[in-house]
Amino acid sequence: TSFQEMRFSATSLNDNIRRCNYVKPTPIQSHAIPVAMIGRDLMACAQTGSGKTAAFCFPIINAIVVDKTRITIRRVSGGATAFPVALILAPTRELSCQIDEEAKKFSYQTGVKVVVAYGGAPIFQQLQNLARGVDILVATPGRLVDLIERRRVSLKNIKYLALDEADRMLDMGFERQVRRIVQQSEMPPPGARQTMLFSATFPAEIKRLASDFLSNYIFLAA
Ligand code: AMP
Repeated sequence: TSFQEMRFSATSLNDNIRRCNYVKPTPIQSHAIPVAMIGRDLMACAQTGSGKTAAFCFPIINAIVVDKTRITIRRVSGGATAFPVALILAPTRELSCQIDEEAKKFSYQTGVKVVVAYGGAPIFQQLQNLARGVDILVATPGRLVDLIERRRVSLKNIKYLALDEADRMLDMGFERQVRRIVQQSEMPPPGARQTMLFSATFPAEIKRLASDFLSNYIFLAA
């Protein structure tokens, strides 16, 4: 199938895909996107360079655009706290910045706001960006826990959650933070959240994360 055949209901997203010169979906995209579009949880084997960023970004952006047209009364974020509806967790500053850049290209003129927050950099600019509104938050685990503790981010509205390079997050010692974040990322009612787990390898610890974080998920191996 081509992206033309996938036809997202968000026309601005289709335009952006064309602008990026994406014609033919990569294998991970052609398998993961249809699964994500029907709202199922998924665990996917994906290496760097496989096109995994678009595989989780397209369905999330499309869903947010659809939600925005359906929900007329939007929750006004309470004071200084930001309430993103989607969270993309990544292990490093470099990866979170790459995802942020791609996600911003894909959401151009869709009305979907993307903000990135990573550690090892001053928090001030990130707080300002959050205060301007955020739909999709791209974050590294440590900085996100910090933002939650400062009550500048709440995960109570999270409806779409993607974990990128989950094996690397575990290797880097982020398991406790990741578990804490996922536990808090729940839009009521329980089970309403759609979760996508991407990992290059599948050791037992990753399978355990999958059974703890995902519900009735589809497994995709390249
Ligand atoms: P990723 O694995 O998500 O880091 O993507 C690797 C690179 O491939 C990035 O530069 C993407 O912009 C590009 N890319 C992803 N999907 C496609 C596609 N379907 N057609 C052409 N380029 C793509």
